[in-house]
Amino acid sequence: MNTDHLLHIDRQHLWHPYSSLTDPAPVYPVARARGVHIELADGRVLVDGMSSWWAALHGYNHPRLNAAAAAQLQHMSHVMFGGFTHEPAVRLAEGLLTVLPPGLDKIFYADSGSVAVEVAMKMALQYQQALNETVRTRFAAIRAGYHGDTWHAMSVCDPVTGMHGLFSGSLPVQYFLPQPPVRFDEDWDEAAAAPLADLFARHGHELAALILEPVVQGAGGMYFYHPHYLQAARALCDEYGVLLIFDEIATGFGRTGKLFACEHAQVVPDIMCIGKALTGGYLTLSATITHARVADTVCGGAAACFMHGPTFMANPLACAVAAESLALLLENDWAAQVRAIEAQLRQELAPAADMAAVREVRVLGAIGVVEMREPVNMRRLQPRFVEHGVWVRPFGKLVYVMPPFIIRPDELTRLTRGLLAALKDEYGG
Ligand SMILES: *Cc1c(COP(=O)(O)O)cnc(C)c1O
Repeated sequence: MNTDHLLHIDRQHLWHPYSSLTDPAPVYPVARARGVHIELADGRVLVDGMSSWWAALHGYNHPRLNAAAAAQLQHMSHVMFGGFTHEPAVRLAEGLLTVLPPGLDKIFYADSGSVAVEVAMKMALQYQQALNETVRTRFAAIRAGYHGDTWHAMSVCDPVTGMHGLFSGSLPVQYFLPQPPVRFDEDWDEAAAAPLADLFARHGHELAALILEPVVQGAGGMYFYHPHYLQAARALCDEYGVLLIFDEIATGFGRTGKLFACEHAQVVPDIMCIGKALTGGYLTLSATITHARVADTVCGGAAACFMHGPTFMANPLACAVAAESLALLLENDWAAQVRAIEAQLRQELAPAADMAAVREVRVLGAIGVVEMREPVNMRRLQPRFVEHGVWVRPFGKLVYVMPPFIIRPDELTRLTRGLLAALKDEYGG
């Protein structure tokens, strides 16, 4: 297709994430992608720093994932999950059961991260109802968190930077905790859990569940906090009969240096959401996973079943690719890949900390963050990254990278150099 035509139709008719149709920021037509490289329609090739939002762990156009998709297409792309089951769903479940935290073995497949969060919240409510805990209708969440864009997921996103202002009056009102103050690499201080204890003492009886992103808050601020916070949360949830939901949609599958971020604290939630990297970035698929006690209680309640069932539940094509992606992750020695990326990001992003416009540089696992003092000018900065041959998409004050795990050291150097060069162009030394 002619690029001018493509851009014209896009400009007139297509919404992009969080965008305006009347005054859209420019978008770049992509022709193809392979490994860590994204090729634009004009022939320029970019090193991918985003993994298409935490998803493309193995890079793009991977022969093994392509083959898994092609093989599944010969059988069926989709068939309803009501009344049927199939090998891709079961194979993926078997794979997940080898890596999930102990006890979490009841799996609900859903279509996207946001839906997995909706499912988790519904599950928590049905659980409390089944126990006749009918006053437990509220959720607690942490400020600067992000859990998705659908209704109840949105209600537990940060109330300020999230979208609460726009929708106040029609969003369910939840309880918010301050961001955990002790950072990942600082010494733990018991006082950091005091607001949690305080909220539970006042409102614990109204809470169905506490939902949080373990250790790494993603889209809400790219903030890394101390794993001990999760232990405090676990203890309080147990004490007050509140379920603990971990949203591992961004952190799952090795990104933080552990297969799941909750392993940093050895804490197992009651309900866990996974998504994003589940299919290695190929297709949309998520899962909400719980243990037998929640599953049995939900199914022993008045409804006698869990009341959710998406049309594309357990989509065979997505499940087949996800099962292969998980196998590949384990074969690839992901832990060594992530450790190497972490060490290199620490070294190569460190010079950014000397720039006047930069507030802080932080790295955890295969996540590198350059936090600026002021929000960046996206319309100016985005083309600078592209000019320097890298795909980096900042938001607010945060310039960050989370490259595919298969990135080679020389490619990662190109990425960090391109990132620093673009920042220098924009802000001066
Ligand atoms: C991206 C994300 C979601 C939402 O997932 P979608 O697939 O975009 O609906 C939820 N929680 C976290 C932590 C995420 O990073």
